[in-house]
Parts: sequence; structure tokens; C-alpha cells
Amino acid sequence: MATERRISILLIYTGGTIGMVENPTTGALEPFDFAYLQDNVPELRRLGCDISSVAFTPPLDSSAIAPEDWTRLVDIIAEHYDRYDGFVVLHGTDTMAYTASALSFALEGLAKPVVFTGSQLPVGKLRTDGKENLITAIEIAAARDEAGQPRVPEVALFFENYLMRGNRTSKVSADQFSAFDSYNYPHLAYAGIEIRYHDAAIKRDALGQTLRPHRSFDPNVAVLKLFPGITREVVQSLLSLPSLKGVVLETFGSGNAPMLPWFLEALEAAVARGVVIVNVTQCVTGYVDMMRYETGMLLQRMGLVSGRDSTTESALTKLMYLFGRGYSPQEVKQQMALPLRGEMTLEPTAEDFGRETYIYRR
Ligand code: ASP
Repeated sequence: MATERRISILLIYTGGTIGMVENPTTGALEPFDFAYLQDNVPELRRLGCDISSVAFTPPLDSSAIAPEDWTRLVDIIAEHYDRYDGFVVLHGTDTMAYTASALSFALEGLAKPVVFTGSQLPVGKLRTDGKENLITAIEIAAARDEAGQPRVPEVALFFENYLMRGNRTSKVSADQFSAFDSYNYPHLAYAGIEIRYHDAAIKRDALGQTLRPHRSFDPNVAVLKLFPGITREVVQSLLSLPSLKGVVLETFGSGNAPMLPWFLEALEAAVARGVVIVNVTQCVTGYVDMMRYETGMLLQRMGLVSGRDSTTESALTKLMYLFGRGYSPQEVKQQMALPLRGEMTLEPTAEDFGRETYIYRR
């Protein structure tokens, strides 16, 4: 009689709080030895899947994670792609939303789960949220539907009961266990007594495709956050940097900016030089609509691209990915206006925004 093949999961530890344990003698926090993962978290044996692990040495606090580390992750996943059914990436929380966004773009054709998680308290602490997050993230990465297909074949982020699309997340709390949210897109699953999947929200269009990993990210980008009173010097010095290729402009409300002549001229000059400027809102919910107000219309006429409801993390890493692929400014502009991996909503309906989308919330 044929025995059913066990699901295999690769755990990739990059660093961050989740992988710290308390030295019983000194009380100091030290990186966890992932070679002995199953011994330290015996609950993993009961998950019924084969778990292997690889770790960054040395482990990195996520504030030190750079595009080279995104490339390392892309390489690890690509190298092990055929051998594993799913991947769980343990990452510091501080920049996890950037890494998850970057990976969503770089892993074109991804048809297997890549679930990011971390924790606010180390695994070795009594009140840790790490064990819960780790175990559930593995369970989600291993989950199949009735047809045997992966339940979540995309880059996702699991934290404190909720599974979210990676490129829709932002870190929203420095000290609460619920540290992440996805304001403009419904949660993909809710883990309570059982894990309830919101199948309609999960991206399945790449199932059956082969993975096309992309390794380069161009760091010649910047974020410019507007504030009342921002000076000409600040705007001009950033926008005139010779190496600059792309800017995420964090504007007010539905995509508005001051109509000051020097400000508009600085934007216009940058666009004329081929700098791609993406308009995203400083608001945590809602989207940029450059047709709503005169200031927005002007920005549109000047050649700014609407980031719609993209997060800053997603718009920025998307620019780095697209320039990394060697596209011309015109091509980057075209692709920035389109959702590539479900990172923005093109035609929002009343249902796409606002509290009513949080149907998997409490
Ligand atoms: N500073 C840590 C990091 O991001 C915090 C954490 O893991 O939660 O690596």
C-alpha cells in the first residue's frame, strides 16, 4: 500500500527576536541553535511534517537587513524550491514588511507558500509569542486543499492570529503582540481554535507556473515624506541626486501636495530626468486618487504615478525590483501603475476599503 508523502518545510532563520533564547546561567539572550530546533521546540514533532532549517550566520537584527540579504533569501528559496513544499522565514519584525514585499516581487511565478513570521518576545521567554507564531506559520506553509494544492501559494506574513499578504503589511506596533496589519487588503486567514482561510483573498494565479527568481535590487531610490513647512532645500537636494532613479512620495490624504511653484518645478525637473515618482498616501487606509483634487491632477499631469493603496514598503521595494531588472524609466512607470503580485487595488469598490473588509478580524 502506498504511503502518503510527508510534507516538507524549510525554515529559514535570518535573525531577530524570535531566535533568541535566555542563557539559563547568565540570563543573557543568545541566538538559538537551529541545528537543534526540534529538541528546543518539541511541539514541532507533532506537526507531522518534515522540517529542515538553514540559518544566516551571524543572525541579523532586521534593522541591518539590506537588499543583498533579500538576494540571499531568493537564492535559498530558489535552490531548495523543488525539494520543499513550503518555506517559513523567521525574521526580525522591524523590517519584515520590506523583506516580505521585496520577496513577493523577486519570486515571480511562486506557486508554494513562503510565510514570514517573527515575534515580539524571544522563543526562550516564558510569555513568548514566538512559539505560537512559529508553529502556526509552519502549519499554514504545510496546509493543502482537497486537490492537494498549497492553500496559500504566495508570500505571506503570519503574526498573532492573522495571516496577511506580505506586500500589504506594515509594522504597526513596537510593543504589542499584534505588531502587523494589512489595512487595505483583507487578511488571508485567521488562526483561532482552528485556522480559517479566506480563500477568495488568496492569490492562486501562479499555481502551475515555474519559479522565476530575480536577484537584483537597485538601491538608488528614496522616500520623501511631505510635511507642512518642508523646505525647498530638502526637496531639491533629494530630487537632484544624480544617482536617483525612483522616489516614493508620501503625500497627504488622497494624494495631495502643496501647489508651491518651487515644489512643482523640482518634481517636474526630476521627472524630466527620468526619475520615477510614485504617489502614495500618508494615511494608513484608503488610496491615492489624483483625479479628486486639483493638486492631485497637477501631479498626474506632471507624470507622477499613482501608487493607489500600496504601502510605502511595497512601492519602494517594487521600484528597487523593477530598476534591478534593468527596465527603462518608462517601463518602470508602466509597471508601477499595475499590480504585479496583488500589492495594490486597481479599481477599488466600496468593499475593498474600510473596516468591512476585515471579515477575519475578531
Ligand atoms: N530589532 C528586532 C529585529 O527587527 C526586533 C524583532 O525581531 O522584533 O530584528
